[in-house]
Amino acid sequence: MSEASEGKTLFQKIIDRDIPGTIVYEDDHCAAFRDINPGAPTHILVVPRKPIPRLVDASDDDQALLGHLMRTAAKVAQDEGVGDAFRLVINNGADVGQTVFHLHLHVLAGREFQWPPG
Ligand code: AMP
Repeated sequence: MSEASEGKTLFQKIIDRDIPGTIVYEDDHCAAFRDINPGAPTHILVVPRKPIPRLVDASDDDQALLGHLMRTAAKVAQDEGVGDAFRLVINNGADVGQTVFHLHLHVLAGREFQWPPG
């Protein structure tokens, strides 16, 4: 891996194409790519270019960005043909299952879901 990718989060490396990923959408503020270990037939991660570690680390200055991530998740779901039935998940913290500390929205669809989530 190049020196330039040192210090980047895993998801920055995917967005910057330092490592492989299946990117399905990108713009100036975020990118969306397929989860490598999908938990549903459609499982896409929407990730800001800015490497905010967790949702609680976002500031008031990030408010528009957070809204943009939600809008992007909805667009990605529509592009995938699952715009009428999808679930968004954000894991905030290792205790609830966050494993990559670069904020991301999971877009999940294509199977039955339970409520409350497990
Ligand atoms: P979380 O547990 O909420 O932090 O979600 C991290 C997600 O990143 C998991 O669903 C992983 O399967 C996914 N993931 C880990 N490594 C990669 C990768 N190289 N490419 C795509 N998705 C990944």
